[in-house]
Amino acid sequence: MTTQQIIQRTDAHIIGSYGRFPVAFIGGSGATLTDAEGKRYIDFASGIGVNSLGYAHPAWVAAVSSQAASLAHVSNLYYTQPGAELAEKLTARSGMAAAFFSNSGAESNEGLIKLARKYSYDTYGSQARKVILTLENSFHGRTLATLEATGQEKFHGADFAPYTGGFRYVQPGDIGAVRAACAPGDVCAVLIELIQGEGGVFPLPREYVAELAEFCAENDVLLLIDEVQTGIGRTGKLFAYQYFNVKPDAVSFAKGIGGGLPLGGFLVSEKLRGTLTAGTHATTFGANPVCCAAANAVLDTLNDAALDEVTRKGDVIRDFVKSANLPHLGEIRGLGLMLGIEVKAPLTHRELVAKLLTNGLVALTAGSDTLRFLPPLTISDSELQAGLQILADTVNPRI
Ligand SMILES: *Cc1c(COP(=O)(O)O)cnc(C)c1O
Repeated sequence: MTTQQIIQRTDAHIIGSYGRFPVAFIGGSGATLTDAEGKRYIDFASGIGVNSLGYAHPAWVAAVSSQAASLAHVSNLYYTQPGAELAEKLTARSGMAAAFFSNSGAESNEGLIKLARKYSYDTYGSQARKVILTLENSFHGRTLATLEATGQEKFHGADFAPYTGGFRYVQPGDIGAVRAACAPGDVCAVLIELIQGEGGVFPLPREYVAELAEFCAENDVLLLIDEVQTGIGRTGKLFAYQYFNVKPDAVSFAKGIGGGLPLGGFLVSEKLRGTLTAGTHATTFGANPVCCAAANAVLDTLNDAALDEVTRKGDVIRDFVKSANLPHLGEIRGLGLMLGIEVKAPLTHRELVAKLLTNGLVALTAGSDTLRFLPPLTISDSELQAGLQILADTVNPRI
């Protein structure tokens, strides 16, 4: 099919809930994508932080193919090997006690919400604390509870009301606001992203995160960290909390873990290991063997040396953007290969991303004015340089 044929069939038969660019991809290799007409693009988006090993990575393809050829799914009524291996690797490398596997970021955060409420109910009974604090400008997902957990008014529209209730919002960076919001004694947990991704790639101040962790520990308020975007090597550590040097009570992950297959989940500390007892939480596809085999290949590839490369490549992008002094571009924020660059008026972030795509670079927007890069963690130096050259030529066309 041509791009035009794919677009026509899609628009005729899939509901229009996505605003799409008029491009149809048919293949990829490394961090390079190919469209239906054979045009090539450098990928600085990874399918929104999902394709952590890029496209057609040999170890990932081998793991997925061999698992698909033997056992694709049996449900959680039985035991399977890939999930057992994956949980062992994740707990060993995170310092957490145990895992639960689900299928998406929103579903993983729903799990954290249930976990926090149940812990509070089990601990305080009729005095259970019901409220979860989240941060303004956050993003936690598209289900009803995670929409409401998302601290942005535009996600709480009347069109989807009623919501579940039980969330309160505070300004990021203000520990006094956290104290005040917890003063009524009804807060069971705080849910945060360490770098607000969708909101514009804003890292939380380190000092604030340390104070928040201390406050939570002192007051039996659970510290829940949403690492759906920052997790699985994206920031140069397996989890961003390892960079911030705090220990969450529970942490969610999704996007990058399956390297392109739908997998998510959360890890809990020893304190919460027994909270979700048999029958209290479940999902049919959870720990799907093919997805877990994919994730095992992702984690084996993302060893310590590969994570150091993520940090180095992030610095390459940062240094290029700073030293090239490019027109229309301002501040660069983020960690590792999760980077946001301020786009200055009159150019908008959306216009820039559309132009970059036309010129052969796939990139993302975030927040109200930010160009967001989430390249495959395995991107080669030559692909990285080619992508940065497209960025420079797009904002600074040579005559
Ligand atoms: C993408 C994202 C989600 C939602 O993940 P889905 O897989 O789309 O449900 C939740 N939290 C954060 C921080 C995200 O970046």
